[in-house]
Amino acid sequence: MVAIPKPLAEKPNLHEIARRQLDRAAKAIALDPDVHTILSQPKNELIINFPVRMDDGRYLMFKGYRIQHSNILGPFKGGMRYHEEVSLDEVKALAAWMTYKTALHNIPFGGAKGGVKFNPRQHSKGELERITRRFTHALGTNIGPEWDIPAPDVGTNAQTMVWMMDTYMNVVGTERQSVRGVVTGKTVASGGSHGRETATGQGIVHCITEWARERRLDLDGRAFLVQGFGNVGSHTARILAKTGATLVATGDYKGYIANPEGINPHKLAEHVSNTGSVLEYRGARPISREEFFAMDADIFVPAALELELGVEEAKLLKCRLVAEGANGPTYPEAEEVLEERGIDVIPDILANSGGVIVSYYEWLQNKRSERWDLEEVESRLEHRMKTTFQQMRELSAERKFDLRTAAYAIGLERMQKCYRERGIFP
Ligand code: NAD
Repeated sequence: MVAIPKPLAEKPNLHEIARRQLDRAAKAIALDPDVHTILSQPKNELIINFPVRMDDGRYLMFKGYRIQHSNILGPFKGGMRYHEEVSLDEVKALAAWMTYKTALHNIPFGGAKGGVKFNPRQHSKGELERITRRFTHALGTNIGPEWDIPAPDVGTNAQTMVWMMDTYMNVVGTERQSVRGVVTGKTVASGGSHGRETATGQGIVHCITEWARERRLDLDGRAFLVQGFGNVGSHTARILAKTGATLVATGDYKGYIANPEGINPHKLAEHVSNTGSVLEYRGARPISREEFFAMDADIFVPAALELELGVEEAKLLKCRLVAEGANGPTYPEAEEVLEERGIDVIPDILANSGGVIVSYYEWLQNKRSERWDLEEVESRLEHRMKTTFQQMRELSAERKFDLRTAAYAIGLERMQKCYRERGIFP
């Protein structure tokens, strides 16, 4: 039996946390109270209960969510999560964060999120396909390339997106060739973009290198920690290692491992793809969750789930930077501890936005029937991440905002301008 590592405090309501972050930024920029009220709740909340046939012939009921938070700046956009703890309030928070993320980058998308409450590890590939297709069919025209565009998140991947696209194409009938962009994060063969799979990790590394450049800090020889070794965590580790920085500890839903001499992230990724977990990797020793947070390191990248970094964890950290790969990993109270301790936080809505940026490029390629090569995607991503990072830093210095408030302020002011010009109809 594996002891599942538990956070050091009970997790509060995620939607409340997202609301508190919005309130703080709204106060800082004196956001129009009507815009504030509108953004405090999502526009649409869809809950679907649907039956799916299992391999043994039984039918099980599943609960799926799609929350559409805002489309003031463009079609709703956001991931689909398969996890046993998916809940309405969790998806509402994640949908709101998508709105602020796309607005921050000035990408013409809004914010949404969805998910199905179940553990994908307990199902065969055939069952996963039927769950995905049945959910997509039930969503019907509540998604669409000009309306609401899902993407992968925890527990889903490029294959899931291809099943969603294929089901949607068959539902819409005659216009099927023009609707490839109904989802992003697809395989390249089925209309995905080069560079999408690595984009979130790559974006995090652009943020870290910008942060280090400003501090005249050489990343070569620095140590880093990554919590969660899935899509985001493993790609961040592999890309960050190219700067000469060393992964010294990591962990996943089963436990944590460390090696102060360094863990090879490529070999570890191979081990995870063969065994399903970082545990029992030969080049590191198992450690506790507390030991993980207390490791000697310069950079910490949370890339697992939300609310993993509480006050206790914030007191244990020895690093100078937290780059939020996961959505909402930090408790507001923990953020205060980090601030007091002089630890910088690059907020999730910027740090992990590489995925949605390349999703936007995928959507554009689908719309224009184009294929961009990897170099083009990567250079556009780098330019956009670094430009937005600088805008956030400048606003933070000018208005004395913390980085999260500065990032929110940029997005909120764009939305406020749009509401002022368009008005609220009817
Ligand atoms: P994933 O399912 O590929 O990986 C998640 C990892 O976290 C796995 O290694 C898992 O074992 C680990 N994990 C789960 N529970 C844990 C726990 N309690 N303690 C420690 N580790 C735990 O998911 P992902 O796509 O890499 O997403 C990770 C985070 O990044 C999520 O918050 C997600 O919303 C966010 N995110 C993902 C993308 C993307 O493009 N995939 C984009 C932006 C943000």
